[in-house]
Amino acid sequence: MRAQPKASHFIDGEYVEDTAGNVIECVYPATGEVVARLHSATPAIVEKAIASAKAAQKDWAKMSPTARGRILYRASQIIRERNRELSELETLDTGKPIQETIVADSTSGADAMEFFGGVAPAALNGEQIPLGGDWAYTKRIPLGIVLGIGAWNYPQQIACWKAAPALVAGNAFIFKPSEVTPLGALKIAEILIEAGLPKGLFNVVQGDRDAGPLLVNHPEIAKVSLTGSVPTGRKVAGAAAGQLKHVTMELGGKSPMIVFDDADVESAISGAMLGNFYSAGQVCSNGTRVFVQTGIKDRFLSRLKTRTEAIRMGEPLDEATQMGPLVNRSQREKVLGYIEKGKAEGARLLTGGGIPNDVSSEGCFVQPTVFADVTDGMTIAREEIFGPVMCVLDFDHEDEVVARANATEFGLAGGVFTADMARAHRVVDALEAGTVWINTYNLCPVEIPFGGVKQSGFGRENSLAALNHYTELKTVYVAMGKCEAPY
Ligand code: NAD
Repeated sequence: MRAQPKASHFIDGEYVEDTAGNVIECVYPATGEVVARLHSATPAIVEKAIASAKAAQKDWAKMSPTARGRILYRASQIIRERNRELSELETLDTGKPIQETIVADSTSGADAMEFFGGVAPAALNGEQIPLGGDWAYTKRIPLGIVLGIGAWNYPQQIACWKAAPALVAGNAFIFKPSEVTPLGALKIAEILIEAGLPKGLFNVVQGDRDAGPLLVNHPEIAKVSLTGSVPTGRKVAGAAAGQLKHVTMELGGKSPMIVFDDADVESAISGAMLGNFYSAGQVCSNGTRVFVQTGIKDRFLSRLKTRTEAIRMGEPLDEATQMGPLVNRSQREKVLGYIEKGKAEGARLLTGGGIPNDVSSEGCFVQPTVFADVTDGMTIAREEIFGPVMCVLDFDHEDEVVARANATEFGLAGGVFTADMARAHRVVDALEAGTVWINTYNLCPVEIPFGGVKQSGFGRENSLAALNHYTELKTVYVAMGKCEAPY
């Protein structure tokens, strides 16, 4: 098995195994090859991870933010030096093409380590509040042990996006990767130790849907940060609420992308393709409802079809491959099921719609697919598909499209393509979404906050805003005179 780690879990600075846990099989989605076999955590593993995190956190919190940040910065440099190795592992774990993983996965994790390591010394300050003679001050204090739970689409990125602000703020961090993609986080754990992170502060505990709740419900966990689907978010936030734990929820979406008649058509098509076919469509913020104004509809669809049919699918480790398979068979079946529903409900299949011929028959490939003449009530326009399926809907007027774009339970992201900047900002204001792009799509540099509204979640990742979610304020009132009482 070409990606077998030394053991399943990484706790207290070393690899740990407990073969009593359920078997987790890691399958390379392009060929069906089993690349590693791991075990889900038992209660004993969970207790070990918690005990080690608890023992390490107090001294870590006493270190200066500069000293903590320096370790994260070192980790960012090691991640960049090993980008090729980490990207190949990410490709084996997820099936995403190396062309993508080499620029978007571990490097984005390194960005988070670098950013939070760098800003910590200035961003963790409190305030001094004058009160006349008396005064007060606030301190930002860490929460304790933070649990991160990852989805399978960006395993290394998600581990780093959550760990970097949590660690730099003085917390210990336990990461439970998705059971579908358990490998990358173990390498991040190794790198953090090499960078000088004291043991116990970044533990990786593998777990399926049985082991996840063991961690979430553990009374020593102060906060849960989940990236996953809305149904999982409801369960995890519900369990956390039972013990009044802090939560960050990065959940799913069905985001609108609105293309006005005056948009640069090639640029808008690029945005629509990036926002539907990158990572074979397995991106939470994807603009899967592409609203195109009727004046440019024909031109848009004709060029979109040509460009989509030119996408190169194939072996993900080949640098020329532009699109790989879906993450596993069940995801492929789910996506093919949605495609059938689209056809049955009357959407017009413009291109794609099936399994490509020229790829491994054991791989989980689905052609990049575009439906035109999609209407708001169709299942493919309402539910998150999480695959390479773009829905193109027509519209005539700005007010109409904004109302239709907002008519969803989700609120993760959105996009507007237009040459009219006043209109762009007006539409952005009206869209119910956590992140909106003007004349581009899906760019998420670490400097900007990322997260959803409505059922897409709450809390923000990245940017200074994330630090608020990994600290709490202690207020100290300082009396400068005697304490006076009326009795
Ligand atoms: P999922 O909801 O099935 O699983 C997410 C994680 O939660 C996994 O690690 C899983 O093991 C764990 N889990 C499941 N049930 C649990 C429970 N009861 N208690 C504790 N943990 C539990 O999601 P997925 O299929 O891995 O990923 C796809 C979903 O993630 C999509 O809906 C996508 O939109 C969303 N996503 C959101 C973002 C974001 O930032 N908003 C980013 C990536 C993916």
